[in-house]
Amino acid sequence: MHLLVSADPQAGREPGMDTILSTDVLVVGAGPFALSAAALARDYGIDTQVVGRPMGFWHEHMPDGMLLRSGVDWHLDAAGVHTLQAYLEEQGLTGDEVLPVPVGLFREYGEWFRHVKQVPVRSGLVRDIAQRETGFEAELADGQRLRAKVVVAAPGVCYFRQLPPWAAGVPARRAAHSCDLVCFDDLAGRRVLIVGGRQSAYEWAALLAEHDVEHVDIVHRHPVPRFEPVSWAFFDDYIDSTLQVSGWWRRLTATEREAIVMRCWRAGRATLEPWLPARLDPAVVHLWPDTDVVQVHGGATGDSVRVTLSNSDSETLTADHVVFATGYAPDLARVPYLAGLLEHIATRNGFPVLDENFQTAVPGLYLTGFAATQDFGPFLGFVKAAPAAATILLRHLQARWA
Ligand SMILES: Cc1cc2nc3c(=O)[nH]c(=O)nc-3n(C[C@H](O)[C@H](O)[C@H](O)COP(=O)(O)OP(=O)(O)OC[C@H]3O[C@@H](n4cnc5c(N)ncnc54)[C@H](O)[C@@H]3O)c2cc1C
Repeated sequence: MHLLVSADPQAGREPGMDTILSTDVLVVGAGPFALSAAALARDYGIDTQVVGRPMGFWHEHMPDGMLLRSGVDWHLDAAGVHTLQAYLEEQGLTGDEVLPVPVGLFREYGEWFRHVKQVPVRSGLVRDIAQRETGFEAELADGQRLRAKVVVAAPGVCYFRQLPPWAAGVPARRAAHSCDLVCFDDLAGRRVLIVGGRQSAYEWAALLAEHDVEHVDIVHRHPVPRFEPVSWAFFDDYIDSTLQVSGWWRRLTATEREAIVMRCWRAGRATLEPWLPARLDPAVVHLWPDTDVVQVHGGATGDSVRVTLSNSDSETLTADHVVFATGYAPDLARVPYLAGLLEHIATRNGFPVLDENFQTAVPGLYLTGFAATQDFGPFLGFVKAAPAAATILLRHLQARWA
């Protein structure tokens, strides 16, 4: 990273803030996709700076005690050396000993990976990014400015929380999206309504029951999912094809893409982990499959929230707290640091339109991870694809600067 002397130091800035840092590649975000790309950039000798909270989503939006659905073969290293398995070996552990993988172990692996790869992370947030003649200038939350020829953004899913329309009728203090409810202690002895019926809904119910919640209702529109082991090995072919054939996903026919989407859906959403049912104490957890919430009553001022269900008896449920395990929907306009560039970024269905190398319509601005799933395939929403995404992106940048 280089230091530039600002032509226009701003009055009242903190000491040291009158310099503008500069780098070739600014990576925004410090989760798996960001760290994977930044580590490969370093391997390629490309000057890179990461800004974000290291494994921030994993620390701040996944509860302690959560177990991963992925195994020990998913990792961050495009070079295939500093893998999760390599980390376990260094700890004297075998893969079998740690399955299912606790979230805490993957957080530790992320930290180890960052240190062993010497990925330079500036822990904090980017407030804004503006285009300049020679690239971009980012303003960080601490007031520092950073210039870069290229920006790689890996915003993850957090900005894309999805809620049903009726959520607006539930007072904010009584409601949370599942990714915002990671500490359960305050809910001991309370009644919780969980809306949604996929892995997070059922895993949050298990965790709540284990934290002495009095009563949990899980309401979802579909039947109770299957609880069976899932092999994610089918991702391997898709990821190999993505690496081998430039623009592979977009070259498939709509029917071929739909078949892959359905396969991912069956594994990821229609099937849940087999270790869950034993943790759903039937005295505490009550299931309402094939059911929707049709009305919310009196939540705004009352001490509890009462909802009417869509079943034939129009039953009502009363809860102290509502958890929306209702997933994520893309909407690039919600990523605050992209606001200044938004009018130049082409989007479709809320996703950025990307070229074969993850580049947006703004030359030099790249988006990876969940934001790339429309143009690269649903597996881009999973850590498994992080090394492949890093490889495609960094090979392209290396060629660009060769
Ligand atoms: C409930 C749940 C369970 C999951 N289980 C698994 C699993 O079992 N296995 C698995 O592999 N994956 C799992 N995932 C998916 C996994 O979380 C994502 O695939 C992965 O985190 C995506 O990585 P990312 O780098 O794209 O984004 P994230 O990990 O979401 O990281 C986003 C980064 O952006 C940073 N950021 C945000 N705003 C700013 C800003 N303004 N400036 C700078 N940085 C910013 C954050 O600090 C963070 O570092 C799960 C996800 C959820 C929601």
